[in-house]
Amino acid sequence: MGTMTSTIRKALIRATIALALASLSSSPALADDVVVARDVTVRAKPSRRSEIVEFPAVGTNLILLDDGAVSRGYYHVQLPDGRAGWVYRTYVRRTVGSLAEALVDNSAGQLVVHYIDVDQANAALLEFPCGAVLIDAGSRGDEAETKLLAYLEAFFARRSDLGGKLAAIFVTHTHIDHNASLDKLVMKYRVGSYIHNGVARGSGRANAKWMLAHARETSPAIAFRAVSEADVEAAGTAGLTDNIIDPIACPTIDPRIRVLAGGRELPDGTEFRPSDWGDEDIENGNNHSLVIRVDFGQSSFLFPGDLENAGISDLLARYAGTTLLDTDVLEVSHHGAANGTTAAFLSAVSPQVAVMSMGSPMTQEKWTAWAYGHPRKATSDLLYAAVTRKRPSKSVMVATKTKTFVPFAMDRAIYATGWDGTIDVKADTAGRIQVTTAR
Ligand SMILES: [Zn+2]
Repeated sequence: MGTMTSTIRKALIRATIALALASLSSSPALADDVVVARDVTVRAKPSRRSEIVEFPAVGTNLILLDDGAVSRGYYHVQLPDGRAGWVYRTYVRRTVGSLAEALVDNSAGQLVVHYIDVDQANAALLEFPCGAVLIDAGSRGDEAETKLLAYLEAFFARRSDLGGKLAAIFVTHTHIDHNASLDKLVMKYRVGSYIHNGVARGSGRANAKWMLAHARETSPAIAFRAVSEADVEAAGTAGLTDNIIDPIACPTIDPRIRVLAGGRELPDGTEFRPSDWGDEDIENGNNHSLVIRVDFGQSSFLFPGDLENAGISDLLARYAGTTLLDTDVLEVSHHGAANGTTAAFLSAVSPQVAVMSMGSPMTQEKWTAWAYGHPRKATSDLLYAAVTRKRPSKSVMVATKTKTFVPFAMDRAIYATGWDGTIDVKADTAGRIQVTTAR
């Protein structure tokens, strides 16, 4: 009993030290890592006869020293507590480049953002340790909608502890590619709150109208909130939040969900229009997109909807001199179009990883990535210069104009549902990020 307590105490101290060290580093290490795959001994020298340094638990993340050089079958590694040693290489799994960082094993749990492949549309499922949130409920066509519903079904089967409940659904703006499947999801799962931009026009208006009526009538009630620019401005430069926008508070961690930009018009015709916007800027439903920031400890995600350049420059002006836009994982605005990403914006965000939600160029119909030319090469070039992490090189297709694509050797951590299928970005509270893709 005494021994066991002491072992637990030691493990706790080790975990605390590891956490403290991890949170001290402002940016995650770019060194390659290995993860302990089987029970193994870390030794003082690359020899079975040398002194034992540690028995790290399976799943422990070790920093690879000496550029990963192998000596007599051993890697030189650094333990989470800073001590160095040697580990036999077949007992650990090496992660790829600086991309697939192993997550710090800690008790606060992880956030997994599932950028679901819904063809030329958006739907991101945020899986917190104690709840789920959906940002956009779009899909293009029956096949994508069926896939989206199946994805959610499998998700809630795996996370049966969540009781089939989406704590919140955000719809960034009133376009069909962002809310086409709202009714199907809402009829199937319990929903805590619905947050929208309050704009009653646009291709998604019928679904938006249905949702508001449903939220009012259904029992138990679905809390709903239209977030306008006026609301966000009133919150100052820290972003807008409340219990409807951020219903998630887990026992181990309280993530932060904030809205950084809201809709620019009210149903009564009131406009919140920057002085330099032309009529076409305010007419454009994309510029009314909610911009959502999610913080999970040291990890952060930005969801700018389909915001176009007019909205982007207003966002930059508002948060100039703050770190509100500075996030680790950026969902690229407007499906990677040429009009939603600028060098100034990327410089403010400084993303380690970028994710685009769009369809495949092989589907050659109306309303597709092929028809719009998403993502554009110009945007991919900007992202390529800005994204700080790497991915294993993949030959992907980018558009030079509508219906015209060229290959691009992508080796920066830029992912797209049209290239990779559903993308899972896993983050821990220490700011470590891991990306896995369906293909
Ligand atoms: Zn869209």
